[in-house]
Amino acid sequence: VGSLPAYTPGRPGATPPPTALGELTGQLSPGQVLVPPEDLARYETDVLGRRGSAAWVARPRDTAEVRRVVQWAYRHRASFVVQGANTGPVRAGIPDASGHQGVLSTELCRGTLVIDAVDRTVTVSAGIDLATLNEALAEHHLTLPIDLGANPTIGGMVGANTGGARLIRHGDVRRHVLGLEVVLPDEAATVLPLQRGLRKDNRGPDVKQLFVGSSGTLGVVTMAVLSVDLLPRQSAVALVEPVTDSAMVELLTLLEHRHGEQVTAFEMLSRGALEAIARHRTPDVRWPFGSELPPDVILLVELSSSDAAGSIHRDFVDSLTETIEVARQAGHVANAWFGPPQQLWALRHMAINAIMGEGALVAFDLSTTRSALVDLRRQARDLVAHLAPGTRCIDFGHVGDGGLHLVVIWPDAGKAADREVEQRAVHDAVYDLVESLGGTSSAEHGIGPENIDALRRHTPQGLWNLQRACKAMCDPLDLLGSLTFGP
Ligand SMILES: Cc1cc2nc3c(=O)[nH]c(=O)nc-3n(C[C@H](O)[C@H](O)[C@H](O)COP(=O)(O)OP(=O)(O)OC[C@H]3O[C@@H](n4cnc5c(N)ncnc54)[C@H](O)[C@@H]3O)c2cc1C
Repeated sequence: VGSLPAYTPGRPGATPPPTALGELTGQLSPGQVLVPPEDLARYETDVLGRRGSAAWVARPRDTAEVRRVVQWAYRHRASFVVQGANTGPVRAGIPDASGHQGVLSTELCRGTLVIDAVDRTVTVSAGIDLATLNEALAEHHLTLPIDLGANPTIGGMVGANTGGARLIRHGDVRRHVLGLEVVLPDEAATVLPLQRGLRKDNRGPDVKQLFVGSSGTLGVVTMAVLSVDLLPRQSAVALVEPVTDSAMVELLTLLEHRHGEQVTAFEMLSRGALEAIARHRTPDVRWPFGSELPPDVILLVELSSSDAAGSIHRDFVDSLTETIEVARQAGHVANAWFGPPQQLWALRHMAINAIMGEGALVAFDLSTTRSALVDLRRQARDLVAHLAPGTRCIDFGHVGDGGLHLVVIWPDAGKAADREVEQRAVHDAVYDLVESLGGTSSAEHGIGPENIDALRRHTPQGLWNLQRACKAMCDPLDLLGSLTFGP
């Protein structure tokens, strides 16, 4: 690298001087570069209201413009984060609080959306959002079946390797990525043309997968080629109350044995999550539980298929009803509610936004094997009750694939300093617990300042060294992202 100039990359560092910012502004068209005192709050604040401070925001429109920003950043040793729709909850897409970092926002990178209905693939710019993509795909009876309560960009989904509510059937983003175009933060702003989009390609290791789930630390994804699926033609959804939380696993096994790959969702909402939804729900979200206390645990179960209606299956609702009846007779199910799929899904998709409205919180994105999930749930709740007795613990998530979102909420009362001590203790203890049960501290949200310490603590040195070597190769000046990969 040679001798570093007056300001050094990353954290801590210095803000690029006005001359450098003037040069950046000259790289793009008017309005594409924003600098203070313009209002940058939207790019600095994440979904949980945590705030960093941006030295600049650049909004390139295509790969050539991304390269110009990256080359400028390299010349001036200016550290930056890549940001898509900014819906990620681990603080990986917002700048830190130093005021030195910039933001490369992909919100204007929306030029390409090419569907190949024969190949069942789509080539799409990184800044295009999931809803727009799925609207275009629907005209060809296709869909990208990653389903979540937010509307992220494709670049952000690749960065985080988004999972979502139908992972049990369709897998995560990784499973759908057939190709990528990536701009590396090196001197030349090298473009890696990994976008051939083949389903079979064994020319050595699959390099593009290195960038999936790398949380914006290795390169800027500018384009993706995705494998897409046929739209479902028939589905049935039910809310099911298991007799106990351990009966969840019995019900899942029964469903899979009877319906195989038609099981497309198996989601859990605990009573705490349901109560939060009841408090914050909008009038269009129907509440099925009347005035009674909601059940301790509710499962949203979906069967669906892309087969033409009536071709080989009996009516899906009858079929699901019959299985739930079998589960009831076997002693696994206490109660069930049926309704239009969109209405029941609306309840599930409201969970995060409702819980975010409940107060100061620490949110965990955990996963483990299905067989260890109930243990994780019970032990984590006990641990939190022990370490932070005044808190409420709410959990929900994609339990069909071993996922558990655990949210610990602190009531407003009490000193902020005491709360911080408790939050730290809860944070470390829950991450240690999930590791001890063979699980992971990042199921589907990627890594960021929120969880990097847990990842570091539990990653064997050899593996960590490999990750650091990848980082050094792709980003030699350590310019990109919100994380420091220390020794
Ligand atoms: C209500 C709600 C529900 C959610 N539900 C789910 C869920 O069910 N499952 C799930 O997995 N997640 C969920 N999320 C989290 C979030 O929506 C996903 O992680 C999403 O994929 C992030 O995409 P984004 O465009 O918002 O990216 P951002 O938040 O802007 O960024 C996320 C990460 O990707 C990186 N990044 C962004 N663009 C690029 C790019 N072009 N190149 C390289 N790196 C890039 C960023 O640096 C950052 O590390 C939810 C969030 C909300 C608010």
